[in-house]
Formats: sequence, C-alpha cells, structure tokens
Amino acid sequence: MCACSGAAAAAPLLGANALRTLTLGALGVSGVAVSSSASAAPAAARTTLTADQALQRLMEANKAFVADKTPTPQLDRKRRLEIAQNQTPFAVLLSCSDSRVPPEVLFGQGLGDLFTVRVAGNTVSPEGLGSIEYAVAELGVPLIVVLGHERCGAVGAAVSIVRDGVSFPGAIGEMVGPILPAAIRARDEDGDWLDNAVRRNVVDVVERLKVSGKLLEDPLAAGKLKIVGGRYDLDDGHVDFFHR
Ligand SMILES: [Zn+2]
Repeated sequence: MCACSGAAAAAPLLGANALRTLTLGALGVSGVAVSSSASAAPAAARTTLTADQALQRLMEANKAFVADKTPTPQLDRKRRLEIAQNQTPFAVLLSCSDSRVPPEVLFGQGLGDLFTVRVAGNTVSPEGLGSIEYAVAELGVPLIVVLGHERCGAVGAAVSIVRDGVSFPGAIGEMVGPILPAAIRARDEDGDWLDNAVRRNVVDVVERLKVSGKLLEDPLAAGKLKIVGGRYDLDDGHVDFFHR
C-alpha cells in the first residue's frame, strides 16, 4: 500500500485525472482547485447514473446476492482494458474491513464499479474523507454508502469499553475511539446494544460526512450527491438502507 500523500503523489495511485484541474463548477463547487498541471485535458467520462439510480442498482444487485442469483460481475480482460485508462465508479462504499462484508461481493459488482474505503467499524478518518472527496469531486460519483454490519467486532469493542471498561493494545483503541459516542448513546435504547450501536455509528458517519466541507456539501445542496447508510445482515445477506 502506498504510504505517500499529496495530490501529485496520489496521482499514480488514483489515476491520471488527479493531475488536471478539477471542474468542480459542474458539482456546484466554486473557488476550489486541487491541481492544475494539465488543465487543458478534457474532462474524463463519468457515470451517467444519478444517485437514485445508483442506489437502485445496489439494491437490486443485493437482492440477487441474497437469492444466490448474482450475475457474473465484469472481471474479465475486456472489462480490465475498458477501464484501464479511466475509472467511472457509480458509488462510494465506506464499509468495514470485516472479511465477511466485501462490498463488491454483497452487491455483485466488478472491476471499476465501486470506489471503496474500508476500515474496521466503517468510520471516517481524514484520509478516508479525502478519498471520498476525491471520488465525488474528481470522479463524479453520485452516491456515498456508509455500510455497517451485524455483529461488527469494532463496534463490539466500543460497547465492551463502555460496558466493561476494557482497553485494547496497540492502535486498536484509536480505531475504536470514533465509535464510542454511538456505543454510549445506544446503551439505554431498547433492543440489542451492539446492533443499536452499529446503526447509530452508521448514522453518525453519514451525518458527519454531510457537514464535512464544501467538496461534499455543495454537490449535496445541488442535488448531485446523496449519502445514505445501510446495515448488512450476516445471516441473510440483506442490506437494509435504513438511513436515507
Ligand atoms: Zn465490522
């Protein structure tokens, strides 16, 4: 994994688009330039899906996954070459690192379809936010999904800190830290503490993204972007988009 930072350094990682001027006016963002070394380059192709269409595509694909009827995703040489020079993902998935919740599988998607940010507990760090902003501002992604899941270990760790006062070694405590407010507020709710905290954590992250700055706020206000939250059920495979 590349440990570099900065727009220029990120270009090889994310694609050549990073080195042209962002046409943020199209997203309702003004006065923001990320880079300008190749400003004469034409705007790259973007998905033609709206946020609602992107969400509909995910919902239908998850329905097929639940029914064990996922069509073969585009993973072949033809698709690889088709997107080799340019990516046009239609959704950002901010999801957990858990091995049981790979977004491409849950939603039956192939190469170049989803722009994913994965971290245990599906929280948003500055680096994660930057990745999401890049996907929206530079790649024109119309939909962000924050995806939590049943029996999330990271959320469970937050609950155990609140309930039992346990501590975790290394950087695990820092990883769990952003989830603690959700775990605390879920404590007195009816039902299962962990599952309530999973949902609260998703809502917290969605709402945080909505006020994270111009790069997301402006396209949101212009109706060009939606941010929604979902919960994946480990048992039946269904994703409930409960926060829209
Ligand atoms: Zn998890």
